[in-house]
Amino acid sequence: MKAKIFLKIKKAARKSSILVSANEKRKDFRDFIGDLLGIIFCKLARNIKLRQEWQPLVSVLLTSYNRPQMIRRAIQSVLGQTYSNFELIILDDNSNEETRTVIESYLQKDLRIRRYYSEVKDEDRWKEARYAALFNIGLAMARGELIAYLTDDDGYLLSKLEKMVKFFREHPAVKIAYNQQNYLPQNKTRRAYGVLKKPGHVVDAISAMHYKSCVEELGNWETGKGKEDADRYIVGADDMFFNKLARKYAFYPVREVLDTRINHKDTISAKMAEKGK
Ligand code: UDP
Ligand code: MG
Repeated sequence: MKAKIFLKIKKAARKSSILVSANEKRKDFRDFIGDLLGIIFCKLARNIKLRQEWQPLVSVLLTSYNRPQMIRRAIQSVLGQTYSNFELIILDDNSNEETRTVIESYLQKDLRIRRYYSEVKDEDRWKEARYAALFNIGLAMARGELIAYLTDDDGYLLSKLEKMVKFFREHPAVKIAYNQQNYLPQNKTRRAYGVLKKPGHVVDAISAMHYKSCVEELGNWETGKGKEDADRYIVGADDMFFNKLARKYAFYPVREVLDTRINHKDTISAKMAEKGK
């Protein structure tokens, strides 16, 4: 009899423990799901906040050759930007004293400027696209997550970097973007024609911005050095470079005028056109 009662108690105890553990298991599961949702939500909120606060370093690569007054204007168009997290890399192609003096004066004023002085010989200038060779040096020096290009006779509107960064911030999947351009003296607009897979001859060299990772993945500018048709690179290295990048990453439009190009007589394009006559 005693043994029977003992068995009954034991059975009841086991049953209640099963119930307790089943309840506990359900509670544990609810807690687990709650914790998991909490973690996911926090991560999402953190990512959204981080994205909103994303202020990447932009490396602006500026080529220079013997244009002391124009380079001053180009440098000022970068230093006056409303977006301040940039470095300006001035790539000077063995310019005259006057041009170098202007560059030096800015180096002392703003620590965001770095410079590279080439020692190219005059007889070698026409053997390759010098701006492309300099941009490649600039890319190797660049510490920025985003890259922008500028040439000494052109300039940025002061909101350019801010607006381009905003565009990249709002479109995390976009790797390359370009803006509209005003060109002088005609005072016309080079428009942004939608998403481009062939941006060559459409997007000007200074109007595109891309992640530095694009060149790490797809390669640098080609200069045409040692090639028989080096002239083709001298006028069109930017078109070839952009088309190469666009084979993988399309160029997305920012439909605002954010830079200015000046068409004057003393440019490579003008000289090549003259040569072709
Ligand atoms: N450039 C250079 N080395 C040279 C000649 C030109 O670095 O020997 C640079 C020049 O400073 C300019 C860029 O190449 O920033 C484009 O030249 P340019 O403005 O004459 O030609 P465009 O492309 O406007 O026709
Ligand atoms: Mg020019």
